[in-house]
Amino acid sequence: MKRIPEPFRIKMVEPIKMTTREERVKALEEAGYNPFLLKSDDVYIDLLTDSGTGAMSDYQWAGMMMGDEAYAGSRNYFNLQKSVDHFFRYKYVVPTHQGRGAEQILFPALINRMRDVRGGDKPVFISNFHFDTTAAHVEMNGAKAINVVTEKAFDTTTYDDWKGDFDLQKLEDEIAKHGAKNVAAIITTVTCNSSGGQPISLANMRAVYEIAQKNDIPVVIDSARYCENAYFIKQREKGYENHSITDIIREMYTYGDMLTMSAKKDPLVNIGGMCAIREKEELFRAVRTLCVPMEGFVTYGGLAGRDMEALARGMHEGADEDFLHYRISQVKYLGDRLMEGGVPIQYPTGGHAVFVDARKILPHIPGDQFPAQALCNALYLEAGVRPVEIGSFLLGRDPETGKQKEAPLELVRLTIPRRVYTNDHMDYIADALIDVAKNADKLKGFEFEYEPPVLRHFTARLKPIK
Ligand SMILES: *Cc1c(COP(=O)(O)O)cnc(C)c1O
Repeated sequence: MKRIPEPFRIKMVEPIKMTTREERVKALEEAGYNPFLLKSDDVYIDLLTDSGTGAMSDYQWAGMMMGDEAYAGSRNYFNLQKSVDHFFRYKYVVPTHQGRGAEQILFPALINRMRDVRGGDKPVFISNFHFDTTAAHVEMNGAKAINVVTEKAFDTTTYDDWKGDFDLQKLEDEIAKHGAKNVAAIITTVTCNSSGGQPISLANMRAVYEIAQKNDIPVVIDSARYCENAYFIKQREKGYENHSITDIIREMYTYGDMLTMSAKKDPLVNIGGMCAIREKEELFRAVRTLCVPMEGFVTYGGLAGRDMEALARGMHEGADEDFLHYRISQVKYLGDRLMEGGVPIQYPTGGHAVFVDARKILPHIPGDQFPAQALCNALYLEAGVRPVEIGSFLLGRDPETGKQKEAPLELVRLTIPRRVYTNDHMDYIADALIDVAKNADKLKGFEFEYEPPVLRHFTARLKPIK
C-alpha cells in the first residue's frame, strides 16, 4: 500500500510526551474511564476530533499578524468575502464563531420565511444526515429533523462510492408527507459526517436541488468538509477527473442557495465559521439581524480580525489538490493497514476518520456494557492514543422508557487532525490497535459510576465490570 509523503516541511514543533502504562492506568481511572475527561497532557496521539485541531501554515500565521481589529468594517472581513466569492460565488457572508453559530442565526430566519412567504406552519428540515448540533438547532426552534441518507451508508462492509448520497425517493416521500410548504429547508451535508465522512456525488446534489426547486424549498449546504467532498468527486465521478478542485467546488455550490460552515474542519483554522447566501437579500438581512445579538456585529460575528484572515487564507490551502491527495490518502493508509491486520473497519474509509467496528471485535460485550468504549479505553492504555466512541454510550437512553437505546453500530472513531501527525504516527496507531484487537477476548465491559441526565458521554464516569 502506498504512503503519500507529506506536502509540507516542519519548522515549528510541539513536543508530545509518551507516558508509561502505569501513568495511563492512573489517568484513565481518574478520568472515570471516559477519554473525554482525560487531560490532553496525558494523551500521546489525540484522535478525538478533526475539529479545530489542524495545524496552520506559515502563511496563515503571517495573516494573524495582519489582523485589523476594528469593530466594524475590518479589512479581514473583506478578504474573507473575497475567498467566499472565489470558491462559492455567493454574494453575502456573515462570519460566526463556529458552525453552530451559523446554524443559530440561519435556522430561525428560514422558519420565519417558511411561515411568512410560503404559508407553512409545521416546520421540518430534511437532510442526508443532520450533524448533532444541526439537529439540536432544528429542534430548539420547534422544528423536526429528518434524515434520508442512502441505505448503503449502514452497510459497513460493502464498497460504495457515495455513502453520503440522499435517498431521492425517501426525500420525495418526506416532502409529500409533510407538505412542501412545511419544509423550511433541505440540508445537504458535505461530506456526510454522520455516515463516516462519506461523500455525496454531484449527480445526487444536482438531483436534490432539482427536487427542491420544483417544490420551492431552499437548500442549505452544510459545508464542514466541502474540499474533501470535492476531492472524492474528482477521484470517483465520471467526467470530473480533469476538473480542478476549485471548479468542482463552484459547481457543488450551484446546487445550494446558502451555506453554513464550521471552518474548524477543511479551512484549516482552530476557530471560525460562517453563513453565506447566494443572492436572497431579504434572508441575508434577517440573518444579519440575528447575528448582532447572538454572535456579534455583522463584520466580525464572534471572530477577531486575525481569525478571519487565517480563515480567508486557510480556505485556499484546504482546497489545494496536493494537500487533499495527501490528506485523504493518509486516512486511507491507516484504514488499509488496519484491514490488513484483521481489524474490521467501515469500508471504504471516508475523508476525516477511520471507523472501527467494535461489535465485530468484542462480540462478547453487550451494547449496554459499551463495547466500543471498552475498545477506546484499551487503545489508550496500550498506546496513549485517544479515540472516540460512536455507539451505545453516545446514543443514550430512550427518554420514555429509560432503557438504553440499541445502537445500529458500535464504532470507535479514529479522527485524523489535518497536517498534525505523520505517517509514522499512523503506523504506530495501527500496530497498537492490531495488538489490542488480537487480545480482545480478555477485555471487559463498563457500567456507570455517575450518569448525567443529558449528553452523558461528555461527563459520565464509568467503572469496569468485574
Ligand atoms: C462540526 C460540524 C458542525 C458544527 O460545527 P462547529 O464548528 O462544531 O460548531 C456542523 N455540521 C457538520 C457536518 C460538522 O461536521
